[in-house]
Amino acid sequence: MVPGHEILRRLQAKFSLTSVVSENKSETAKRWRLDGGGEIGIIAPVTEPFCGHCNRLRLTADGQIRTCLFSVVEHDLRALLREGAPDEALREFFYTVAGKKEDRHHIGEPGFVQPERTMSCIGG
Ligand code: SF4
Repeated sequence: MVPGHEILRRLQAKFSLTSVVSENKSETAKRWRLDGGGEIGIIAPVTEPFCGHCNRLRLTADGQIRTCLFSVVEHDLRALLREGAPDEALREFFYTVAGKKEDRHHIGEPGFVQPERTMSCIGG
């Protein structure tokens, strides 16, 4: 793994970069503007985690809600929709699921379990 600060150090050795300040606290990338045009973003979720500001839920192509890319639990929205659940039930479902959102990933910690369906399988 190449840490985020090392990626930046290597880029700065070749390019003149200016930090782009974002108003969006849940933005995943730290962005840099290149002199002469263009922009790059570095996403370093392991060495520079940004989970504290994460507001994302994911809906998979098969109708499951994941509250984190690294959730080992999926919440079945498809079943609710197929049984014709009313709007109020769907609203309640989303509130309940959002309340279960993890405060962070646990990559690199003892006991970390990789989800059965990895990020690339859920469009993460
Ligand atoms: S690892 Fe999970 S909590 Fe952290 S930013 Fe990604 S989706 Fe959000």
